[in-house]
Amino acid sequence: RAKAMPGNSWLRYSRDFKEAVRQQISLEAEFRSALRTDELEVYYQPKLELATGRVRSVEALVRWPSPKRGMLLPNDFIPMAESSGMIVPMGYWVIEQVCKDLAILKRMGHGNLTCAVNLSFRQFHDRKLAETVFRIIYNADIATDNFEFELTETAMMLDTEFTIRSLIELRKLGLRFALDDFGTGYASFNNLRRLPISTVKIDQSFIRSVSEVAEDATLVEGMINLSHGLGLNVVAEGVETRSQLEFLHRIGCDEAQGFIIAPALPFEALCSFLDAAASASSDALVFGRRG
Ligand code: C2E
Ligand code: MG
Ligand code: MG
Ligand code: MG
Repeated sequence: RAKAMPGNSWLRYSRDFKEAVRQQISLEAEFRSALRTDELEVYYQPKLELATGRVRSVEALVRWPSPKRGMLLPNDFIPMAESSGMIVPMGYWVIEQVCKDLAILKRMGHGNLTCAVNLSFRQFHDRKLAETVFRIIYNADIATDNFEFELTETAMMLDTEFTIRSLIELRKLGLRFALDDFGTGYASFNNLRRLPISTVKIDQSFIRSVSEVAEDATLVEGMINLSHGLGLNVVAEGVETRSQLEFLHRIGCDEAQGFIIAPALPFEALCSFLDAAASASSDALVFGRRG
């Protein structure tokens, strides 16, 4: 068998493999130090409440402006953080940062704003998750009402029993959950009924074509009606065009999030955005933007 692989291609494979391992180790080491030195940043993407044209909630999205590698997005480092276990301390760092920012927003008169924080399945491997999350929020003197956590179906369904127990524990403490990327997992509709969630976020893949493909529009309308029937709040993700926004408004979707409203913003830019949104009329906010 060994003969089937010419010597130099084996050597190349071996060298590439070693190089990949070295890269991974150095990314991990840089990330560990970035976490320790507060090099990560939390950006915030506004969600627009369609019935009122107000922004009542935002989603926290982590960024890593690495001095060496440039601005890194979650897809560049979350998989490594998950496989190395560093997602656990990173997750707590994000919640702490969100608490600090919410305290500033409160002083600016935006005390009713809700912030959603993403949780990955790997964070549930920490048996003290519920306890730690609650302690951070409590110590920061932030109301649990100001928080929401986003989990994907896959995250909620892995290690089901323990995960659901943690979710229920957090729910009892007044924390709410949203089902992220809805429609991309499995057994979707059954989960809506079983999981302790209050919001569903319809994945961008369904939103993309609502204004062109009639079947997709029907599907999204069905997802919204079904969710409403179960008493759930509905957010559309990845809304990029005005016609998508108008469609979602017309069929009664509760909130929209996407580039048509704003991308994820650094905290300072979020503050300006919220101040401008508070003084603009709802019409200007929903329909006065360029698509
Ligand atoms: P997600 O929670 O589904 O977040 C939505 C993603 O879609 C974000 O990507 C956002 O920037 C992007 N997005 C928003 N509007 C639009 C749009 O109109 N068009 C397009 N094409 N994209 C849009 P981002 O920030 O790169 O985050 C990717 C994923 O990384 C998130 O998906 C979430 O699963 C994960 N993530 C982000 N921050 C955290 C975190 O603090 N902790 C954990 N555990 N995961 C995180
Ligand atoms: Mg999310
Ligand atoms: Mg999502
Ligand atoms: Mg996603």
